[in-house]
Amino acid sequence: MDKQELRHIFGKFATGVTVVTFNRGGQTLGMTVNSFTSVSLEPPMVLFCPALTCRFAQGAELGSSFTISILSSEQKDVCLHFAGRPNLETTPWPEDAEESPAVEGSNAYIKCVLEALHEHGDHYVAVGRVISAQITSDKEPLMFYAGTYPQLQKQTDESVVS
Ligand SMILES: Cc1cc2nc3c(=O)[nH]c(=O)nc-3n(C[C@H](O)[C@H](O)[C@H](O)COP(=O)(O)OP(=O)(O)OC[C@H]3O[C@@H](n4cnc5c(N)ncnc54)[C@H](O)[C@@H]3O)c2cc1C
Repeated sequence: MDKQELRHIFGKFATGVTVVTFNRGGQTLGMTVNSFTSVSLEPPMVLFCPALTCRFAQGAELGSSFTISILSSEQKDVCLHFAGRPNLETTPWPEDAEESPAVEGSNAYIKCVLEALHEHGDHYVAVGRVISAQITSDKEPLMFYAGTYPQLQKQTDESVVS
């Protein structure tokens, strides 16, 4: 199957956007991710799919911590920054933050330890055991669809079918 066509088809699946923060060699790094999925409530587990070549995948150790921050529609700059288009002057977490901090201004964060890393094709499936999670804001989510960042259109009360 043609790779470009398949990329186009996969892009027809609308998602939210997250930033995964983690520590490599004493440095806190971030990476934009839309492959985040909840997996299990009991025990609480999530997954995302990092490319084999990305910095998360390099030196990832089972038991290490990472945090998934769910971005709001006001954080497109954060999304682009951690997707390899740097535009932020400072990192969106305090300088003295712990090793995998939540991104400030996000709608929610989920702190995890890496429980499994399965290699499939050109990506891993990274499974995280949830340690703690919190809603931190109630803004519109940042959406990603077909390579664009559409606004979520909320229905008005009149248009809701009961
Ligand atoms: C909407 C969207 C969804 C995506 N979903 C996925 C996905 O699910 N899986 C996947 O593998 N890829 C995904 N990507 C692509 C991924 O975000 C990029 O390939 C990213 O650049 C990979 O990061 P990297 O770790 O390889 O390293 P880099 O490209 O080197 O790092 C990412 C960027 O973050 C910046 N950065 C990181 N840490 C810091 C820091 N401490 N201070 C300042 N800047 C910092 C870097 O300057 C760089 O610009 C997605 C991209 C987008 C736009």
